[in-house]
Amino acid sequence: MAQEDIFKKIIAHCKEYGFIFQSSEIYDGLSAVYDYGQNGTELKNNIKQYWWDAMTKINENIVGLDAAIFMHPKTWEASGHVSAFNDPLIDNKDSKKRYRADVLIEEYLEKLEAKIQKEVDKASQHFGKNFDEQKFRTTNQRVIANQSKVDEIKARFIQALEKNNLPELKKIIEDAEIVCPVSGSKNWTDVRQFNLMFSTQLGSVTEETNTIYLRPETAQGIFVNYLNVQKTGRMKLPFGIAQIGKAFRNEIVARQFIFRMREFEQMEMQYFIKPGTEMEWYNYWKEKRMKWHKALGMGDEKYRFHDHDKLAHYANAAADIEFQFPIGFREVEGIHSRTDFDLGNHEKYSGKKIQYFDTEENRNFVPYVVETSIGLDRMFLSVVSNAYTEETVESTGEQRIVMRIPEVLAPTKLAVFPLTKKDGMPEKARKIIDELKFDFNCQYEEKDTIGRRYRRQDAIGTPFCITVDHQTLKDDTVTIRHRDTMEQERIPANEVGKIITEKVSMKNLLKSL
Ligand code: ATP
Repeated sequence: MAQEDIFKKIIAHCKEYGFIFQSSEIYDGLSAVYDYGQNGTELKNNIKQYWWDAMTKINENIVGLDAAIFMHPKTWEASGHVSAFNDPLIDNKDSKKRYRADVLIEEYLEKLEAKIQKEVDKASQHFGKNFDEQKFRTTNQRVIANQSKVDEIKARFIQALEKNNLPELKKIIEDAEIVCPVSGSKNWTDVRQFNLMFSTQLGSVTEETNTIYLRPETAQGIFVNYLNVQKTGRMKLPFGIAQIGKAFRNEIVARQFIFRMREFEQMEMQYFIKPGTEMEWYNYWKEKRMKWHKALGMGDEKYRFHDHDKLAHYANAAADIEFQFPIGFREVEGIHSRTDFDLGNHEKYSGKKIQYFDTEENRNFVPYVVETSIGLDRMFLSVVSNAYTEETVESTGEQRIVMRIPEVLAPTKLAVFPLTKKDGMPEKARKIIDELKFDFNCQYEEKDTIGRRYRRQDAIGTPFCITVDHQTLKDDTVTIRHRDTMEQERIPANEVGKIITEKVSMKNLLKSL
């Protein structure tokens, strides 16, 4: 099945099983804004807990913060967001559709590269073992022509972005003969810069001076509180401040479900360090964060690093952790060495001294920062897209959809079914839940056949189901059924809690980091 179709199925599944709904759906929705349903909320909370504990609980020098979304407008001047947080946009005059100029060019390059790859794959199949890819790439006329187009456009594109040359971006679109996917025409407007911050008015007077922004990243709440936390917590370098919270960006092209939203959630940690040690800490956090992802067991091959060629205005080194989504390898987290750009600028703009006194070296300086910044919603998307599995049950030939969510993150850990609604089975099932509901989320289900109840739990990723039957009433044993293997075993009812706790334990996962 095409990856695009799988992605559509995942989106439909998320809606059907209470993971994610379109915001204000009864009014036909709000573009690129989503609500998390009953199962989505639990999954999201579990991801948050995994991140929060991995930062603040197991590192004694990392503490938490919960800063407000609204901040003094000067914050965003100091951070560079007022002047530089822009995307280049372009409109098609016929369809009236708006695009990101850089994305149009990137997609064009991706298409050409895919064409080249197709030729290579075809030839490789044709020639088999004797295929010399290098030779083919340098002699096949079609490949050479396409490759030189890619090289030329790429070089112009990188230069245009670096120089912020908007007319050149338009020229590239024209020269490459990129058409609007809706109207099919090449009737483009000029490229303009578009600031991604949402603004609103503070108080009741609509004056320029009252304009404030919805924060486009959580990091600045940490920077402006650096001194507060350092002083009140008597923190010594190196130390970190972690925060989870909403961020808002007026994205021009917001497609691809929760991958790119206008309101989303970030989990960011700023690590304050001595100047000169940034590369050491940058590499340390790159490895640490990759380990955190891989520890979930979703497959090591699904992750890769992507080092940035073009650095943001604040960074001296930056890499993304990319995950293999159904739409391809895409960024899920960024690790950035931000130097003293932010604290230094806040010092300048606020006129307050924001420094650290190093007692060993007996000197003051502005600390450097290495940050790790992950999108909670993208992390959520990586988990659900990896989990979604359609398979045929061997024994019955029946189709099932199972969400193979890592057990520790699953919204519900245990479902308990009485085989029938009589003979005291419901009471016994409820009794098991009443004991275990303090440890993890449980669900009670008595409707339909056991098989159908299993399917419903598979669809929301519940790793364990327990059935209370006639034998339970005689010897206090139950059957436990495992989601992924569908294997069933008979175990004493009083061991259920222990077995499941072991498998879904956040503690064990954190210990493995
Ligand atoms: P992109 O290049 O995809 O726009 P970015 O490089 O601008 O992302 P950062 O500013 O580094 O992203 O933000 C850190 C993280 O926040 C990203 O790795 C991503 O997971 C998440 N994120 C950023 N923008 C969005 C968005 N519009 N919707 C959902 N998550 C987002």
